[in-house]
Amino acid sequence: MSDKTPAFLPSATPPTWLGVMGGGQLGRMFVHAAQMMGFKVAVLEPAKDCPAGHAADHLICAGYGDEQALGELAGQCVAVTTEFENVPAQSMARLADHCFVAPNAACVSVAQSRIEEKRFFTDNAQASGVLPAPHKTIASLQDIEDIADDLLPGILKTVRMGYDGKGQVRVKTREDVRAAFEKMGNVTCLLEKMLPLAYEVSVLAARGHNGASVVYPIAENVHRDGILFTTTVPGPNVTAECARKAQDAALVLIERLGYVGVLCIEFFVLQDGSLVVNEMAPRPHNSGHYTIDACVTSQFAQQARAMARLPLGDVRQHSPAVMLNILGDVWFEGEGNAAREPAWDAVLALPGANLHLYGKDDPRRGRKMGHVTFVAPTLAEAQDSLRQACAILGIPL
Ligand code: ATP
Ligand code: MG
Repeated sequence: MSDKTPAFLPSATPPTWLGVMGGGQLGRMFVHAAQMMGFKVAVLEPAKDCPAGHAADHLICAGYGDEQALGELAGQCVAVTTEFENVPAQSMARLADHCFVAPNAACVSVAQSRIEEKRFFTDNAQASGVLPAPHKTIASLQDIEDIADDLLPGILKTVRMGYDGKGQVRVKTREDVRAAFEKMGNVTCLLEKMLPLAYEVSVLAARGHNGASVVYPIAENVHRDGILFTTTVPGPNVTAECARKAQDAALVLIERLGYVGVLCIEFFVLQDGSLVVNEMAPRPHNSGHYTIDACVTSQFAQQARAMARLPLGDVRQHSPAVMLNILGDVWFEGEGNAAREPAWDAVLALPGANLHLYGKDDPRRGRKMGHVTFVAPTLAEAQDSLRQACAILGIPL
């Protein structure tokens, strides 16, 4: 899945311009990391008031498919990446006519469709050693009739645009599938067998233009209501064998994709200890935020290096870390509507606290507003700070 890039291109060094499609928090943290290295960064995003736009050297305010805006971005930047998984793959292809694009349109497009993504995992299962959950495409009522008994109970997921558990319905019977399929407007879905999860992990890998790749320490993730709640590294449940298997699989998959940049792969660990590959994100990932404070090279600095075709950075973790996502909920008293300002002074007084707020000024319940990463000499100390932060912020544990 290579793009039109010639086999060798020289590195892009600061102070040249890097570009990013999307203006969210991932873009903002990318901008910060690239600027720290001396790059200038342009962001293309339709919303004028956006987290990455506040930090960028230049904001191109336009739709992701706007031809003129894409031309401007490609003209200004030596390389462009995306922070937003659902950027039109076509736009990435258009940009690649004029500048280096990493990851390329083909890789982004595989990750955008749960069907293509599952096919990619299945096709490469022998090499990677991991399979996805048993699944079936549901595009018609006949497909629902044809569901094998052992795929139920399951989860019906829209093929495109799902995130943070959105576009997913848990189903027990074919009748449930029919109702859920109709509720989602009869769009093509994927039915996945509900697996008995013991815990969830993710692996960040990065691959350079020259084919060299690196893999970060495995992260253990806890979700709440479909949204990432905490990431702990090293994961308290993760065995050395599980870590090695997941990291090896990630390195095989990133190579098979011919990917350039940072890729995150999510896995399930089942109650019998087996590893199942869930999905991948063609960009830095929420579960990799711990790398900012706990690793030599953050996932965002790594993305800048990969797209600029510079040597990849050291992925070594220097401190155990726990990351807590900060949702808009903490701006409200209890379950009610009364607004409050979170006690950041108390959170910042905790040992090892690193606060990251994304500059969003309208907190809503369930909206990612920031995160805190606690780093400490031992995991127990980092976890202790996390517990205290939850008590301060009124987050039940
Ligand atoms: P993300 O925010 O990671 O993009 P998403 O909305 O794309 O999430 P998934 O990662 O597919 O969705 O699923 C969200 C969560 O639902 C998983 O982290 C896991 O806890 C649970 N889940 C998903 N699929 C299964 C499955 N087949 N069996 C059991 N649990 C599952
Ligand atoms: Mg997921």
